[in-house]
Amino acid sequence: MGLLRKIRTTGRVAEPAPPAPMGEVLPQARRLSGSAQVRCVDAGSCNGCEIEIAAAFNPVYDAERYGARLVASPRHADVALVTGPVTRNMAEPLRRTVQAMPEPPIVVAVGDCAIDCGEFAGGYGIEGAVSDVVPVDLAVPGCPPAPAEIVAALRRVTGR
Ligand code: SF4
Repeated sequence: MGLLRKIRTTGRVAEPAPPAPMGEVLPQARRLSGSAQVRCVDAGSCNGCEIEIAAAFNPVYDAERYGARLVASPRHADVALVTGPVTRNMAEPLRRTVQAMPEPPIVVAVGDCAIDCGEFAGGYGIEGAVSDVVPVDLAVPGCPPAPAEIVAALRRVTGR
């Protein structure tokens, strides 16, 4: 009983949230009213960026507390988080994924490879950077970017 009382009186223990990025919110994201559904697209990544995206949604960084939520279908997604250089095989699926999203889709390029092909620039199987295939609204640099930076980018979409 002592333990239950302690749990009830302690409440939720978490780091205080950093200030909301007001004034930096993407203009095209204002219609979302603080809630963004997010679809991840691995366009050819080494999976390093995926590990950091997973961390961004874990209980420590907890992107969901700022209104970002992962979804399984682009039809339900407001935001595409795209990682990796775009390989030739993934160029058309990436185009179709973004076309399947409700208008206007918001595309976030996550990691140096997504921004300028990074380590894989000039590779025989590389189509190009994400912006060579679909319009990009926001870029998160780093190899890989830290989870806090991915969360900060998502907060620029949700405004929370
Ligand atoms: S940016 Fe770095 S971690 Fe991300 S896909 Fe490229 S090489 Fe991998």
